Amino acid sequence: MAISVFDLFKIGIGPSSSHTVGPMHAASEFVGALRERDLLERVARIEVRLYGSLSATGAGHGTDRAIIMGLMGERPERIDPAIVGPCLEELFESQTLLLDSRWAIPFVWGRDMQWHEECLPHHPNAMTLIAHGHGSELYRNTFYSVGGGFVIDEQQAQAGDLDTDITALPYDFNTAAELLALCRMHSMRISELMMANEKAWRDEADIRAGLWRIWGAMRECVDNGVSHEGVLPGGLNVRRRARKLHQRLLATEDDTSLIASTFSAMDWVNVFALAVNEENAAGGRMVTAPTNGAAGIVPAVLHYYMKFQPDASERDVVDFLLTAGAVGILCKKNASISGAEVGCQGEVGSACAMAAAGLAEVMGASPAQVENAAEIGLEHNLGLTCDPVGGLVQVPCIERNAIAAVKAINAAQMALRGDGDHFISLDKVIRTMRDTGRDMQDKYKETSRGGLAVNAIEC
Ligand code: SF4
Repeated sequence: MAISVFDLFKIGIGPSSSHTVGPMHAASEFVGALRERDLLERVARIEVRLYGSLSATGAGHGTDRAIIMGLMGERPERIDPAIVGPCLEELFESQTLLLDSRWAIPFVWGRDMQWHEECLPHHPNAMTLIAHGHGSELYRNTFYSVGGGFVIDEQQAQAGDLDTDITALPYDFNTAAELLALCRMHSMRISELMMANEKAWRDEADIRAGLWRIWGAMRECVDNGVSHEGVLPGGLNVRRRARKLHQRLLATEDDTSLIASTFSAMDWVNVFALAVNEENAAGGRMVTAPTNGAAGIVPAVLHYYMKFQPDASERDVVDFLLTAGAVGILCKKNASISGAEVGCQGEVGSACAMAAAGLAEVMGASPAQVENAAEIGLEHNLGLTCDPVGGLVQVPCIERNAIAAVKAINAAQMALRGDGDHFISLDKVIRTMRDTGRDMQDKYKETSRGGLAVNAIEC
């Protein structure tokens, strides 16, 4: 399976890559299929069926709203988050959906948006879209949102063919051991090898410009996060914290004592991560990294590096993201980056490993040290369950990103103090994540039926 760094870092909207970005993509693909088959103007009604985790936590994650926007022809990378609220209000009032922004059909929420507890066989995040004509069914497809905004349809799932991209890469790797061997054999750093692979899709100037755009979107997200305040939507009454913390930090930047500087650096990391994840919870413009729920960790660590490393450069941003991407690819290929599949270890754990690897790379680590940094970052998130309170990507998600960002920095630091030789390999930790995810009860996999989601409400 060929995965590009741009598959892992995608610009979209919050609050969830698997529950918002993926379903919006699926709905927009569905509309594209109707268009291609010349069926659009024969559609009299659309039925949306949500299954498994999409049904259990879809309301809190905005899955229903994302699907509606996708049916209206919007795509996650283009949509202006500000239009979602007004469009939905209009739909509720008129009970009319403008399919592909041009074909008006009735949409009765209680009838046409259906929530099913059962799970479909191929993946816990499943949805079926059915287009009815006058008196007959015109077209249907089932989509699986497999994490990080990736979507496959029924045909691909049945063929067991999750490998939608068969691009031949010059330095293809499936495991960390293979990646390290290639680096050794060709005397390459991980970011160099990744750059060479990315050139299979686009030229170097486009890769650099694309990654710079990703970094720009991450910066914009932090800027938005530190300028908004108030209570996050959804009903939990969670207050935004990033803005206040940011203002306090700006006011105390002159204190240069060691303890103050250490605390201050950690505060900055927290502020960057909180800002991103608060924006995510509010449905703002985001970059999956590799998912939305865990989207604060990579930008927080990269912001930290860019703020505190005096000679940090544009080149470092590219190297950081390419290296983080290599680790994300390994997690996705050999375990999962989906909380609904393996719990939060797949989201926050993978993101922590990616950020640790990216930081180690730009700090001059050898490939073995980078692999060690990723391994430490992931190992200490093993077993982490997904239990978002109220089905919202707020508690524990927002704070968890800040904690994991600090952990990623420590992981990179520990790896840089060593020589790359270590006891457990990254491959073994990824395999353990996969096995632990398999053994984890479903109530801890993005269903909000266990853990904090249950106890927070009981308390
Ligand atoms: S608990 Fe983790 S995996 Fe679950 S929604 Fe929150 S960030 Fe995502």
